[in-house]
Amino acid sequence: MNPSTPAPIPSLATQFQRTLAAHRAEAYPSAATRRDRLLRLEAALLSHANELVQAMQADFGYRSATEAGVFDVTVPLGDIRQNRRHLASWMKPRRVGMPWHMLPASGRVMPQPKGVVGVIAPWNFPVYLALAPVAAAFAAGNRVMLKPSELTPRTSAVMAHMAASAFDRDEWSVHTGGVALARAFADLPFGHLLFTGSTRVGREIAVAAARNLTPVTLELGGKSPAIVGEHANLRRAAERIAFGKCANAGQVCVAPDYVLVPRPQLAAFVQETERALLAYYPQGAASPDFTSIVNEQQYARLQTLLNEAQAGGAQLRQPVGGNAEPRKLAPTLVIDPPADCQLMREEIFGPILPVVPYDSLAEAKAFVNRQPAPLALYIFSENTREQQAWLRGTLSGGACVNETAFHVLADTLPFGGVGESGSGAYHGKAGFDTFSHLKSVLSQPRLNGAFLFNPPIGPLQHKVGQLLRRFI
Ligand code: NAD
Repeated sequence: MNPSTPAPIPSLATQFQRTLAAHRAEAYPSAATRRDRLLRLEAALLSHANELVQAMQADFGYRSATEAGVFDVTVPLGDIRQNRRHLASWMKPRRVGMPWHMLPASGRVMPQPKGVVGVIAPWNFPVYLALAPVAAAFAAGNRVMLKPSELTPRTSAVMAHMAASAFDRDEWSVHTGGVALARAFADLPFGHLLFTGSTRVGREIAVAAARNLTPVTLELGGKSPAIVGEHANLRRAAERIAFGKCANAGQVCVAPDYVLVPRPQLAAFVQETERALLAYYPQGAASPDFTSIVNEQQYARLQTLLNEAQAGGAQLRQPVGGNAEPRKLAPTLVIDPPADCQLMREEIFGPILPVVPYDSLAEAKAFVNRQPAPLALYIFSENTREQQAWLRGTLSGGACVNETAFHVLADTLPFGGVGESGSGAYHGKAGFDTFSHLKSVLSQPRLNGAFLFNPPIGPLQHKVGQLLRRFI
């Protein structure tokens, strides 16, 4: 081969086997090795930050540079550093008490790397949702193969370059391509597979993982409700809901999907939301802080949702207007949409906020509980009893009280869904634990009572058995 010709890229399966072999040669990397990987990841992210922001802007058509910089550079940087700072203490075996009848044995739980971790990422925060799991997997001592989204191809290419520039391919490799490659990727027998994406594809991932008995974390989506309680501060609620709905133009898994409002407060809530939107985006969707819809297909889907809701009798309001190129859809309130329209049945993933009136707490809770468990629920209330009634009376992956979406950013909180919004969790220590096998270890000292169970079974063993049955 000509020495200037780059080495051919191995197939997915070959790359997996090589990565696994490299892991087996160093199955329990030291804290120093893990820190070194995280430092290289941090340095690669920082040195490619501008390139990544430009690539995201090109992929989206237009993306707020501030949003891209904060959510897809600063936030993953925080994750990487948090993992680096804490990994030594998270790695330590965790002492566990023994039941009296097992004494004097001692017990501990020993976190151990699972091997090769697969990460499949979506397009909406293409860097954050790729690198946050990579960082957690490194902290836990694994090697990683990443499959980023084909819908943000320029960003994926920069991440592939980042990985190649700072990592051996057997430490971290990036695999770009479409659905066919994604399917082949999900079929690999990873030590753990983390998928972030839609519930529809999540079902396919669960099936693929089951074939290999691969442990899988599913970070999915759904319709996360915001509830304006009977004791809410309307202005505060409207401001936080408007923020949560319009960040990244609503293309956020934890965006409030729709809002339930007590009927008597409907008009006042709409007015407050309009006021908040005008303050945030004085030029409407044309504002430099407002992001485009990622592609024509998504844009057309959102328009169809709006047209259908309007045809069904809902009132549409675009308080700040400013629909603009490329694919900038002005924040739209849809007042009292029909319950059976598509807007109220599928995850919106865009800057459209259905505002649904309710007449009683029981009716509102029944409305939420009729639907699959959402990824998040946001309760706005100044009354702790009302907050508790919602937190206890509904099941959701996570929740915020008097806030939207910010729980994602608190990496001391495990993040994940439940039911159709996902299973498993990561972020902070939860991520370390997800990518570790938590091995239970019992140590027996020389002097112990295990002989009491030795066969042949005689009167002594019978006596021990009787005592145990009484006191265990
Ligand atoms: P998607 O499910 O279409 O794609 C996600 C990834 O899966 C992409 O990399 C894609 O190539 C890959 N993929 C597609 N088909 C596949 C298959 N058959 N087998 C294996 N992989 C396949 O999701 P998306 O449109 O990129 O992202 C939007 C969705 O993701 C929304 O539903 C949103 O709520 C959800 N989401 C969830 C979170 C979370 O943390 N829970 C975060 C962001 C987005």
